This record gives sequence, structure tokens and C-alpha cells, in this order.
Amino acid sequence: MKNFSPAVSPRSYPKGNKVIKHYNSDVEFVSEALKEARKALKKGEVPVGAVVVDESGKIVARGHNSPVNSSDPTAHAEIVALKKASRLARNYRLNNFEIYVTKEPCVMCAGALVNARVKRIIFGCYDTKSGACGSVFNIANSQKLNHRIKITGGILEDDCRSLIQNFFKARRGKKISGGETGSTEVF
Ligand SMILES: [Zn+2]
Repeated sequence: MKNFSPAVSPRSYPKGNKVIKHYNSDVEFVSEALKEARKALKKGEVPVGAVVVDESGKIVARGHNSPVNSSDPTAHAEIVALKKASRLARNYRLNNFEIYVTKEPCVMCAGALVNARVKRIIFGCYDTKSGACGSVFNIANSQKLNHRIKITGGILEDDCRSLIQNFFKARRGKKISGGETGSTEVF
């Protein structure tokens, strides 16, 4: 890109993150977010993952859902990745960055992404119970707020949804075998 000056020095990028920059990049980056989601799954967390990408097409930060293990209700994948990206960029504004996440962000995450002035949100499956990028609320692209984020939803939707659905199915199975019934889970 002409006149591009990266906000993050390439030397500070996490090792092993290749530049992905071609026609199908949304799919590739959501695939990378899915890898993060699987890390959450291995730790017994709801499998949601995210990656933050700069305008050169480089992944600068990754995150996966970890509120249970970190005893932190804000430790959603998007917040984890956003904090890492901000620290690397040494900037609380991430105007030229995009975030890829396996599930439509919630109210908290969409609010944080608006505050960070993120350019675009690309997500996998829609969250019809609590999504804040159009499904239930529209925090990310609201006329009432002073920053609006472009939204692309439904990338690798089935893969992202089935990962979460299978997690809750397995958990419900465990609860039933342990004598517990009922579930308040949304997927
Ligand atoms: Zn969230």
C-alpha cells in the first residue's frame, strides 16, 4: 500500500504470524481465530477466538475466551486480543486495525471495539441471543455513537457455530449424567 507506515514495528510482531493478504483473506483470518477458539475449548472455556490484523494484512495479536480460568468476566477473546494489540501499538486507538472473531461480539466487546475505533469487525456465527453487531443490539454501528465500525458477519459461520454448539452439548451431557438438569446456555 502506498504511503503506508505501520503502527507496529514488524520486529515486535509475534513470531510465526504470516502476512495474509489476498482475495479470500476474511476466510483465512477467521480460520486463524478458530485456532484460538480451539485453545479456549482445550481449557474448558466457551470456544471463541479472535485475531487483530493491521492494514498490511498481518496478525498482530491473538486472543481466546478465558473468563473462567482467569477469574475475569472481561476476558472475552476480543478484549484479550484488543489489549495485546493496543499494547503493541502503544496506542489506545486502533483506527487502522480489523478484528476477526468466531462469534458476533457481545455488548461489552462491541463497546470496547467502538472505544478503540477499530475499522472493521469480521465475525463467524451470529449470536441471536446477545449479539451486539446487529443481531440483538447494534452497538458497533450505531448512529447514536461517535464511531461506527464496518461489520462483516457469517464468515465460516457453520464451523464457528458448531464448535460452540458441541461445547454446550458436551457440557449439558456432563451435567445430566451428574444429576443436574436444565441449562441457560444460548447455543
Ligand atoms: Zn464479549
